[in-house]
Amino acid sequence: MKLYNTLSKKIEEFVPHEKNEVKMYTCGPTVYHYAHIGNLRTYIFEDILEKSLNYLGYNVKRVMNITDVGHLQSDSDTGEDKMLLGAKRENKTVYEIADFYTNEFFSDIKKLNIKKPEIISKASENIEEYIKIIQKLLDNNFAYKSGNNIYFDISKAKDYYKLSGKNEEDLIIGAREDVTHDEFKRNPFDFALWFTKSKFENQEMKWNSPFGVGYPGWHIECSGIAIKYLGEYLDIHCGGIDNIFPHHSNEIAQSEAYLGHKWCNFWIHGEHLNDKSGKMSKSNGEFLTISLLEKKGYNPLSYRFMCLQSHYRNQLVFSYDSLNLASISYDKLKNKIKSLKTNEDLLNKELVEKYIQNFKETLMDDLNTSNALTVLFEVIKNPNLNDYSKLYLVNNFDKVLSLDLINEEKSIDKDLLNKINMLIEKRNVAKKEKNYELADKIREELLKMNVSIKDTREGTIFEII
Ligand code: AMP
Ligand code: ZN
Repeated sequence: MKLYNTLSKKIEEFVPHEKNEVKMYTCGPTVYHYAHIGNLRTYIFEDILEKSLNYLGYNVKRVMNITDVGHLQSDSDTGEDKMLLGAKRENKTVYEIADFYTNEFFSDIKKLNIKKPEIISKASENIEEYIKIIQKLLDNNFAYKSGNNIYFDISKAKDYYKLSGKNEEDLIIGAREDVTHDEFKRNPFDFALWFTKSKFENQEMKWNSPFGVGYPGWHIECSGIAIKYLGEYLDIHCGGIDNIFPHHSNEIAQSEAYLGHKWCNFWIHGEHLNDKSGKMSKSNGEFLTISLLEKKGYNPLSYRFMCLQSHYRNQLVFSYDSLNLASISYDKLKNKIKSLKTNEDLLNKELVEKYIQNFKETLMDDLNTSNALTVLFEVIKNPNLNDYSKLYLVNNFDKVLSLDLINEEKSIDKDLLNKINMLIEKRNVAKKEKNYELADKIREELLKMNVSIKDTREGTIFEII
């Protein structure tokens, strides 16, 4: 498989450390707000990458973090704390905000048929791992204490700019214009590993550490979680292109200083989805979420389809016109597939194998999903393939594309529905009578049936998980 590696700035043959085993780390969401559809484009690309690797015969062990502490508005330790902003905005605690938006994130990715990574870990649940790394970095003089915070000294890192290809002088000129410069840093690009002295006195999430009561910086969280769950050698690390600098550059600097050797061979980044005004943002008014698209009547999978029509390394500008076109094309495709007859026939073996090979080649060509879709359209059109073979191939390709090309909308059995409603009603009564023990028991019973419930202002809603 060939993939573009941001580290070498070249398309390279992908070779994992261990044959057929891939250790993959993908940066997860900062759960202070809903994910916008730009963020979700990155998670779609990562999902396609994981599924393509599986399709090509690799076993993938994938880890993702949930950032619930330490991420400031700018990625380089300036601005407000994102989680505190969320808590202030909604008059809730940071824990409530983190819980709520983590669940919303899971619900969004489910709607887009993005598989949950095998391991998902909250930043706040791995504090001892960060402390271990920071202590070693201090002992080996890669880190220093200043103004009661601990910073990584980038002048000690080997080739700090190797991932970004940035030029230090240009960066320094840019940084001079940044009025919110952190006075405790020796170099403006040093970054915080641990804060004890912060501008946020109301920081709720704090832990004891040998460096004082405080909280970790954002970058150390990803290194800590990746090393904890995937060990010393990583095959693939992904994120959106904004993560290249400083986030991933900092991850490399601290991880390699800690481990004493090269950490990850392949750095793969997805280009952004922008809106017409430029960058997609969460700060100005209504922003584009999957729920908003649903409210406007779109099937979330037509957004997935739209993303797959373009290459992950090309910028994509969102407009309702392009989503409409994608939506029409997706519906047409589904209708064509629906009209195929399911009667058992003989597979057109040679042609089927040829198409599977073609499909594989598009994925091996740096995840060329738009060409993969072209192969699918060719299959549907080909008069020399019988319907049975077409359906076989559609099913096979959908393991990667995940567009529900054959499955009908997940319909739910009537008896099950009655049972769920009866239990929810029983739980409402229990709650009214302040019998919380019974209410919790009913929630657990529902969970055992793979039903998760959520109490909203409009009442209790449920979801099959
Ligand atoms: P965040 O929740 O801000 O940490 O971002 C989550 C992921 O979305 C990261 O991998 C970012 O690189 C990515 N991302 C941020 N903005 C965009 C965008 N406009 N288009 C695509 N991906 C993005
Ligand atoms: Zn990260």
